[in-house]
Amino acid sequence: MYKTIGVDLGGTNVRCGVVYNGELTKLKSTSLVNKSYEKSVLNQIISLIKENFDEAIKGIGIGVPSVVDPEKGIVYDTVNIPSWKEVYLKDELEKVFNVPVVVNNDANCFALGEKYFGKAKDYKNIVGITLGTGVGAGLVINNKLYNGNNCGAGEIGMVPFKDSDYEQYCSGMYFKEIQKISAIELYKLAKEGDPKALNMFHEFGDNMSSLIKSVIYTYDPEIIVLGGSVSNAYPFFQQNMYDGLSDFGFPKSVEKVIIVVSELENAGVLGAAMLIKDSLK
Ligand code: ADP
Ligand code: MG
Repeated sequence: MYKTIGVDLGGTNVRCGVVYNGELTKLKSTSLVNKSYEKSVLNQIISLIKENFDEAIKGIGIGVPSVVDPEKGIVYDTVNIPSWKEVYLKDELEKVFNVPVVVNNDANCFALGEKYFGKAKDYKNIVGITLGTGVGAGLVINNKLYNGNNCGAGEIGMVPFKDSDYEQYCSGMYFKEIQKISAIELYKLAKEGDPKALNMFHEFGDNMSSLIKSVIYTYDPEIIVLGGSVSNAYPFFQQNMYDGLSDFGFPKSVEKVIIVVSELENAGVLGAAMLIKDSLK
């Protein structure tokens, strides 16, 4: 057994941990303070990894919120980090740390973390949905991560919805840009029973039911695991989300599918660390 590092890059936060024997230790996280330059984001990631790096680390896996050339480890057109247009992430990190680096999509890493260590462990067909700055999904099909050609399979946030796309209606963006309040602030208000806050989460639940329908129609999974920080508010939107599924065309599928919230401290970091483990075998 050897130690690896997993990194989960989001549009708001970056998290990094050491994984040894399937155990996540030394979890460190920081908010991205300056997203204006490719280098500033890269340097924040490097600093965080340096806090955890030592000579026992055999490789680094990193999930990023965009599409990726998995062979070359190049990240393209990161919607929530606009300065990241074409980043040679694998090369940049290998240059600094001198160990193999594997890059994939953040939601794919989340799904992988749930498959190996989380609530999806006993299932073959899994969709992991990350509700964070944006929304994305990762797919495990017949026990195997399905990447698509650019690690972009399941990037459901970009699918058109209403006047925009799911990202605008089913992630932290819904609150920030449409409701003009952050999801975390709203969560605090909802916990105090604030009727307006509860109502916004109910509307969010209505939007989520459309997203879940799209997921079940396209992938028909056994289990859907929700993650990302917005999933903390699940108790406030769960009812509306389920109510909206009542007119689903194949009622048996809705009856059978299991929808849960992740209980792992950080599935995305664990999944990212597993990327490198799989490639070092
Ligand atoms: P990233 O996109 O960087 O992976 P996160 O998964 O941490 O980030 O999600 C960030 C979003 O989650 C922000 O919109 C923030 O307001 C929201 N958020 C953070 N904590 C909570 C909470 N307890 N309940 C609801 N939303 C939250
Ligand atoms: Mg994330």
